[in-house]
Amino acid sequence: MDVSDGMREAALAFPNSRSNEADESTVPDSVACELYKHPHGEHVALLLDLGPNDEDGAAWVTWCTDGSDVKVRRKPYCASKSPSGKDVCWLHTQHRGGCSWERYE
Ligand SMILES: [Zn+2]
Ligand SMILES: [Zn+2]
Repeated sequence: MDVSDGMREAALAFPNSRSNEADESTVPDSVACELYKHPHGEHVALLLDLGPNDEDGAAWVTWCTDGSDVKVRRKPYCASKSPSGKDVCWLHTQHRGGCSWERYE
């Protein structure tokens, strides 16, 4: 999905977005859903990390398969860690499907 100027501005408008010198070029021009393949429900992709702390989370864009209902929201990161403790999940809290580390362990 292409990232529009409006989505980019919304991501950069969150507090802390500029603390790590984020600017328009920090937000990707296009994103793809980061969840496991799923037939229903909204898709989600990271637009901008809102550090410096993990609790600060990130700006995420969510959208429906038909391209409607695009929203830019701030959510904390998922707190899940792999059983070995080596990998963390880079999706947002309360995401659908499996955690990203499950693909590697
Ligand atoms: Zn998806
Ligand atoms: Zn997770």
